[in-house]
This record gives sequence, C-alpha cells and structure tokens, in this order.
Amino acid sequence: MAYTVSRLTDYSAAALEKAADECIAACTAEASEVRSDLDLKSFRDRWMARKNGILTQINDLWLKGAPKEAKREAGIRVNEIKSAVADIIDKAEHIRLEISTAAIQSVDISLPGIRRPIGAEHPVIKTMHEIVGVFQKLGYSVAEGPVVETDYYNFEALNFPPNHPARDTQDTLFIAGQQSKPQRERLLLRTHTSPVQIRTMEKMRPPIRIVIPGTVHRNDPPDASHSPMFHQIEGLAVDTNITFGDLKGTLDHAMKALFGSSVKTHFRPSFFPFTEPSAELYVTCFICGGSGKRGADPCRPCKQTGWIEVLGCGMVDPNVFEFVKDNGYDPKKVSGFAFGMGVDRLALLKYGVDDLQYFFQGDVRFLEQFG
Ligand SMILES: [Zn+2]
Repeated sequence: MAYTVSRLTDYSAAALEKAADECIAACTAEASEVRSDLDLKSFRDRWMARKNGILTQINDLWLKGAPKEAKREAGIRVNEIKSAVADIIDKAEHIRLEISTAAIQSVDISLPGIRRPIGAEHPVIKTMHEIVGVFQKLGYSVAEGPVVETDYYNFEALNFPPNHPARDTQDTLFIAGQQSKPQRERLLLRTHTSPVQIRTMEKMRPPIRIVIPGTVHRNDPPDASHSPMFHQIEGLAVDTNITFGDLKGTLDHAMKALFGSSVKTHFRPSFFPFTEPSAELYVTCFICGGSGKRGADPCRPCKQTGWIEVLGCGMVDPNVFEFVKDNGYDPKKVSGFAFGMGVDRLALLKYGVDDLQYFFQGDVRFLEQFG
C-alpha cells in the first residue's frame, strides 16, 4: 500500500513523532525500490514536486492545519522530515549514478545504439538561408548589426528626420528611461534591418554588396499575419554608375532563383524615406501561376490578382550617402540600390501555412513537418 499523507487530528508531541517516523520509513522503503533512472525520477517527483508532492502535502496538511499552540512543534517535525527526505533522495541519486557509471565501463558493443532525434532547420531560418544563398552566389557578403539600436541609426541616418510622419509607420518599441539623452542617442528595438546599411558604410568604403538578415521588432499584437518580432533581409549595393537597371536585373534574377524560372517580376512606384525612386516588387503568384484562380476557386494568397508583393526597393537616397560621405560615399560620385523583404511572410507563402503564430509557438508537431 503506497504511503499517503493524511490529515492530523492529534497534535501531541508523541503523535507528531509517530507520524514523522512513519513518513521517513515510507520514503526509505520507496528509495530501496528504485531500479532505473525512470524510477528515480518518479520517486523524486512523488516526494519533491512543488505541486502536490508529498512534502508539499505535509506542509499544507500538517503545518498550515496545525492549531496555534502546536505550530512550533509541528514546524520542527516537518523540517526534520524535509531534511531526511532530501538525504534519502540524495543517496538514491548517488547509487543510480554509480550504477550507470559502472554500466558505461562495461558497455556491450553488440547492442544497438540509442537513436537520437535529429533536429532540422526552422522553416523561417531555412527560407532566410535560401534567400541569403541566392545573393551570396551573386557575390554579396553577409553583414549583421545590433537588435537594440539608437534613434540615429534606425531613423535619422536613414533620412527619417525627427518628427517626420514616416516614423509613425514603424510602430516602434522604445527602451524606457531614455528621455534625458539627446534624441539621436536614445535606444529602441530596431524596426528594420536597414540601420546595418549605415553601420556597414561607416566601416567599409565603396564598392559594397551586402545582404543583412536579422530579427526586427514592432508594436504589432500577435495574430495570423503579425508578430511583435519578425525577420527581414535587407540588401545594399553601392558602386559607381549603379542604375535602376542593375536593381531590376538583380532582383529579377533573385526572384527566379527563389520561386522558379517561370515567375515574372513587376515594379510599382512606392515611397520609402531612404530610397528615391522607390518601388514595390511583385512576382507572378507562385500558387496559382498568375491566373488568380485555383480551379474554380479564387486564389486567396494573391487576392485573385495573380501578383504577390514580395519586397520594397529603390535607389539609395543621396541624403543617406551624406551621412557617410567622409568614408567615400560622395553622392555625386557613387550610386546604389537597396531592398528589403519580410522573411516570415515569404515562408508562410512558400509552405502554405495560414497562421504566422505557428512559426513561433515551438510546437514540435508543427515543426517536424519541415524536418
Ligand atoms: Zn494566386
């Protein structure tokens, strides 16, 4: 019959001693039954678990339930039990450890090995690596930068002047307690990977070709298509005589490498503070092939248009070069293009997942489908 903790009715010293002795004897007996690591774990959990373990029950039933005049005596007994049980479990753990160490020394090599589950790349990271890989083949190198940024790198040096309305579109998460600092030194969670453009141009003279993968944060409550943390890949190429034609050719090639050689690309005018002119890049929907229909049904991912927006891009605004002019980026001499895309959204489209939250919940049943 397994030991259970019952409520005490008699709180005399003799009764308390008897109850404590019984409890410690039960624990000792159970310890002698431990034969495997699994046994040890359930033995330890049964006695030590914070929620409903035997020691917790004793604390609740014997100590908290004790009448005022018996509290002191009951407290002493309960502490004795706790330390005795800890010793017994300690000893049982020691014995198990010795047994398993001995087992390792006499290993039977004819037994089959223990199969360990093999991990796999997370679908978002996998997509990120694929995109980065396409640009690496074109000669781009990878640059990274801090997630906690200053106002200067996240906004000012990217041509978002203080109080400019374009800052409002970024739903920025600011670090608290920065009010005493000058605005450009105040810290925030970067809202895009673009600050790394400036950081790299400060360190490296032109020509440069970089891709910048990383996490970014915005004040977006989590839902099927939003998350306060998501991933971007940014690209930047600066040299003499870089034109919009180079931008179009590079991105057209990259989209074909990512989504298949039959996709068509299409640029529409847009606005970003750090590029001029700016454009959004659309590719023919790789789900419906550009027809806007899936059989008789409308194609939802492209909203029946046959086109999917994949990224924002444009020619680097000369105002941005002004911030790094001293390092060889004279806007009269160099030109460049930049682009940026949301990796999570592309992973959703690529794998046909309909809720962004699946990517971040860490549920192995979902993730192992991509292994
Ligand atoms: Zn479609």
